[in-house]
Amino acid sequence: MSALSALVSALSDGSVTIVDLTAPLSADTPTLALPPQFGQTAKFELEEISAYDDRGPAWYWNNFRTGEHTGTHFDAPNHWVTGKGGEDVASVPAQRLVGPAAVLDFSAQVARDPDFLLEVDHIRAWESGHGALPAGGWLLYRTGWDARSHSQQEILNTDEGGSHTPGMTVECAKWVAQESPVIGLGVETVGTDAGAAVGFDPMFPCHAFMHGAGKYGLTQLQNLAQLPPTGAVVVAGPLKIIGGSGSPVRVLALVQR
Ligand code: MN
Repeated sequence: MSALSALVSALSDGSVTIVDLTAPLSADTPTLALPPQFGQTAKFELEEISAYDDRGPAWYWNNFRTGEHTGTHFDAPNHWVTGKGGEDVASVPAQRLVGPAAVLDFSAQVARDPDFLLEVDHIRAWESGHGALPAGGWLLYRTGWDARSHSQQEILNTDEGGSHTPGMTVECAKWVAQESPVIGLGVETVGTDAGAAVGFDPMFPCHAFMHGAGKYGLTQLQNLAQLPPTGAVVVAGPLKIIGGSGSPVRVLALVQR
């Protein structure tokens, strides 16, 4: 049996299932908020063209407007100045949109400390139990933050001291970008960096190091709790926007039961 025939039969008998890692996209979808001196990403908006009415008697359709970085989305290397001149979202090779995932669960730590920062030693300890991070695949960082994805206020978790959301240390971001074999980092928060990362050196180190290394980001993922630590295969298909720095994306995971 070919690998694809085996996959089709596994999908049919339920021994491989599909987990949707994507947040619903609507005007209510939370978006990141930068400090007020910077430009801001747009909320998602639908504009009705016709709905089986005088404007189009037999059809319903819409235009939409959105930020590239609104909702569950893909960050391309040219999103950051360190990746300037690198791949736009349309240039990401299709082969890199399907790959294995390692799921690192730090939701217990984040429940105690929303400013929790992943360190290289945390990843090393995980690797000692589960094996090396997957070459050509994704590091999916589970924090439990997807439980907040219905609410702008809860997902940003901002007070007078700024946004309190989990992320990685500068050193860890540099290691994942430059030493680890993964091609991307996926998170449950609105961006790959911690809420406090505007004050790190460099500012927003996940973006700076990952995109500088030609690697990718996936944000606002959901349902990572339904994935095993290793063995899932992620399919992430951003829109092929010429010159785009990212795109809303439908992210699916294939999981062996
Ligand atoms: Mn982004």
